[in-house]
Amino acid sequence: MKREQVFEFFRRLAENNPSPTTELESGNTYQLLVAVVLSAQATDASVNVATRPFFEHAKTPKQIVDLGEERLREAIKTIGLFNTKAKNVIALSQALIDKHGGEVPHTREELQALPGVGRKTANVVLNTAFGEETFAVDTHVFRVCNRTGLAPGKTVDEVESKLEKLVPQPFRRDAHHWLILHGRYTCKARLPECWRCPVIDLCRYQPKTLPPEERVKPSVVRTALRASSTARTAKGRTASTPKANRSRSRPSRLP
Ligand code: SF4
Repeated sequence: MKREQVFEFFRRLAENNPSPTTELESGNTYQLLVAVVLSAQATDASVNVATRPFFEHAKTPKQIVDLGEERLREAIKTIGLFNTKAKNVIALSQALIDKHGGEVPHTREELQALPGVGRKTANVVLNTAFGEETFAVDTHVFRVCNRTGLAPGKTVDEVESKLEKLVPQPFRRDAHHWLILHGRYTCKARLPECWRCPVIDLCRYQPKTLPPEERVKPSVVRTALRASSTARTAKGRTASTPKANRSRSRPSRLP
């Protein structure tokens, strides 16, 4: 995608949603960090359902450490990988108490040194809590960047590094939210909704998905194919019938 197309791409996403943000619910930076750790391989909605009740009472690392691993595990048991995540959340909370005075650190190195915190989680926290221009690449961002041709790459690191180089101001701060939301609600994994996409003319993905009313349902295609096959068979029979009849009508033996 050319420079001016990249600008236009984000300009349109920004026009549609001027103040994008994470859909993970949290009351402070510590809860945001916990929510992001819990959201690995889980939807934001499922994380919110689990965290809503216990975030009411667990607002600090000490409160979660006091809650204990067993009760935390019970609270998040509806989220995938909850055993490992409960362990990590308790361990990272203890690390925050021991090394950072109970506060969430502001640097990537310190964040990534916490249990259960990888580059993507650090990127989300740095961006959402501290306003840094980071580009967290999750499954939605990876798909949108590759499909559209915006920042194609074989790995999340490759896509992230391309985004870092090409996303212009004033879109750098919110780019990753726009890409996530675009992937979640429009450029969906199974069937991108191209017919209502604001960047359809800039995107290289082919073939574009038609509007539902213009799409032929698979069942209709199957019926049409069956009908055409039946018609062909019948035509074949009709065409061969006279010959067969001729052959049958010929006396097998001459008198
Ligand atoms: S045109 Fe389709 S494939 Fe391209 S970004 Fe939009 S929804 Fe995704």
